[in-house]
Amino acid sequence: MFTTPPVAKVSVVIPVYNEQESLPELIRRTDAACASTGRDYEILLVDDGSSDNSAHLLCEAAQAAGSHIVAVLLNRNYGQHSAIMAGFSHVTGDLIITLDADLQNPPEEIPRLVSTADEGYDVVGTVRQNRQDSLFRKLASRTINKLIQRTTGKAMGDYGCMLRAYRRHIVDAMLNCHERSTFIPILANTFARRATEIPVMHAEREFGDSKYSFMRLINLMYDLVTCLTTTPLRLLSVVGSVIALLGFAFSVVLVVLRLALGPQWAADGVFMLFAVLFMFIGAQFIGMGLLGEYIGRIYNDVRARPRYFVQRVVRQDNATTHEEHR
Ligand code: UDP
Ligand code: MG
Repeated sequence: MFTTPPVAKVSVVIPVYNEQESLPELIRRTDAACASTGRDYEILLVDDGSSDNSAHLLCEAAQAAGSHIVAVLLNRNYGQHSAIMAGFSHVTGDLIITLDADLQNPPEEIPRLVSTADEGYDVVGTVRQNRQDSLFRKLASRTINKLIQRTTGKAMGDYGCMLRAYRRHIVDAMLNCHERSTFIPILANTFARRATEIPVMHAEREFGDSKYSFMRLINLMYDLVTCLTTTPLRLLSVVGSVIALLGFAFSVVLVVLRLALGPQWAADGVFMLFAVLFMFIGAQFIGMGLLGEYIGRIYNDVRARPRYFVQRVVRQDNATTHEEHR
């Protein structure tokens, strides 16, 4: 087993969307937590097109003397995960930590994330201990978690918590994915070799409301599913074939019974009409399944994710020099 070098510089990426009330406290607490790790650090705050004073506050904080803060301003609102990606493309550290700006993820957990990553993990996930969300949100995320665990086979307890740490090579791999809608924790897991989870505290939102409306939550769920798998498209083909077969068999039964029991039984042609209809419906489903298969492949090609991800090549030193001499 090779060893991952210890973390020298920590980059914290925080998406900010209309969070002016929590920003001063967020910056103060995050800065203190980072300083206590005893390593070099930077805090990237990405303004996701806020309409309040957030962007102004960020610029001020970044321009203060001796500040570790970098402000990244987007021209409009792109959504939490796109904002984090924008932050990723400007990090310089070798461990990247994401967290929410609303102080629901306590920045005081950062040192523990760093020390866990130091043990050689590529991704350090978190499980919220005392969820402070509404019952509806809890139920929704539990359903999603189950779905993810079944499709990825990776046991990750809590995908909804953004307080996570990623090694630099994982972030670079994510930046190399060309899809437009992403769900970062899942994307990271597909590139991780060693991932772990630690329990963290979770607080209630102090200022403002959740930035996710019901429709945006549904959208996020679709992002999550499509980021994860094209199984729903494959399902169309499987379920479609089953329906087609059943329909075809049923129509054959109708025809046979009509021949055996006469036109009276078949309601003077009505049942024959149904038999023909079932065959056409079956053909349609097979056609749709075929389309689904093509679309799934097109989708995979369009997002052009790296086909594989080499974390490191280990080779003996003399072999390297030999190659260099050639
Ligand atoms: N956020 C963002 N852009 C958006 C929505 C949210 O950058 O379009 C940020 C928001 O400022 C916060 C984080 O994403 O830092 C999580 O948002 P929120 O707390 O509203 O989500 P919830 O905790 O309800 O899941
Ligand atoms: Mg929140």
